[in-house]
Amino acid sequence: MLNNFVYEQTTKIIFGRGKINEIGQIAKQYGKTALLVTTPASPATKSLYEKVKNQISEAGVKVIHFDGVVPNPTTESVNEGTKLAKDHKVEVVIGLGGGSSMDSAKAIAVAAINEKEAWDYLYFKEPQPTKILPTICISTTSGTGSQVTQVAVITETETKTKSALFNNLLFPRIAIVDPELMVTVPKHITASTGFDAFTHCFESYLNVGGSPYTDAIALEGIKYVVKYLRRAVNNPEDMEAREGMAWADTCGGLAIANAGVTLPHGIGMTISGHCPKVMHGESLALTYPAFTRFTYPHAVEKFAVVGRIFNPELLNISDEKAAEACCEEIDRLLKDIGMWLSFKEFDVDVEVLRTIADRSHDLPDYKANPVIADTDEIFHQLMEGYERNVSVC
Ligand code: NAD
Repeated sequence: MLNNFVYEQTTKIIFGRGKINEIGQIAKQYGKTALLVTTPASPATKSLYEKVKNQISEAGVKVIHFDGVVPNPTTESVNEGTKLAKDHKVEVVIGLGGGSSMDSAKAIAVAAINEKEAWDYLYFKEPQPTKILPTICISTTSGTGSQVTQVAVITETETKTKSALFNNLLFPRIAIVDPELMVTVPKHITASTGFDAFTHCFESYLNVGGSPYTDAIALEGIKYVVKYLRRAVNNPEDMEAREGMAWADTCGGLAIANAGVTLPHGIGMTISGHCPKVMHGESLALTYPAFTRFTYPHAVEKFAVVGRIFNPELLNISDEKAAEACCEEIDRLLKDIGMWLSFKEFDVDVEVLRTIADRSHDLPDYKANPVIADTDEIFHQLMEGYERNVSVC
């Protein structure tokens, strides 16, 4: 018997090489003044930002460029972008970049036309926003899936709290996923974001609130990660691999938007809240080896299915053994893409890890794991990431 489920998704996805060239025509359907939201230009992204600005202007839309997004975006940065949006009375907000830029765009689009600041509209606060400016998300990393989710993750620096707006209003009107934009992503960011895409698919599949619909999308995404992530990391200009990872990333977003994530994301968000220099994908890689060993005995069949996607030879052994081998396959992926990390590399000491463990139930993600971890177990998983021997690969 299949579980009952609801699947909701309102974002129009425009996927494919060269699709960025449609941005002018798309933007003009939503207004005459647009806020473009990005990180500061780097040698890798400068020409893309210029190209997008020119195309929007040529379509007759005035562009205001907010280029103050910081990775793991902060309330200060979102408030700054909101002020610009209000001052210029923008009618459409365009997030161009990785999850940090797209999430900032969504949060700004909320705060620009509601009474309070974005932070006042976190998922658990009342009242929730009632309106949002139309948002277009253009992904330039293959990782967060934010271009198709109703989530915007932001951090309040003062309280070291990383949390999220989560409301169906935040589904972008349009997602442009153009794999050609990802060829400039450096090797380590390709690895970190690509591993994030894997975790979205994997955790949605494991999630106790998943459905046949999200399972199908999640397994599709995992197949693409297994086939293409190593290739994209080893050869950034491998367009087939970039395309495969762009699809894996989109599958991950579509899956988490309706199933959600589990334990590692609640811990990972708390890690980045306390240590903002740790990228989101890195925060996940730090606890994944301990998380998989803790969880697989409670989800043997699902771990076995995923293990056999990694390694079809596992078809010939029992589910129990294939599930255990799945943990090793994930370790191998982490090692192969340079994501076998330890907290020592980030200068995070044990006291901070204890604080992170104590706060890691602040977000509800741990409740959706096949087995519940208390804060001592989470501390143990963090310590495993502290003591990990990174010289083995
Ligand atoms: P990011 O957006 O922080 O980008 C990382 C770095 O890569 C930045 O310096 C950026 O300028 C650079 N970059 C991006 N695209 C590039 C390109 N094409 N070429 C060269 N450099 C490029 O990283 P991310 O991992 O994509 O996003 C992380 C954020 O997204 C975190 O805050 C995380 O919590 C959040 N997130 C959101 C969702 C969601 O559903 N909204 C899901 C998962 C994670």
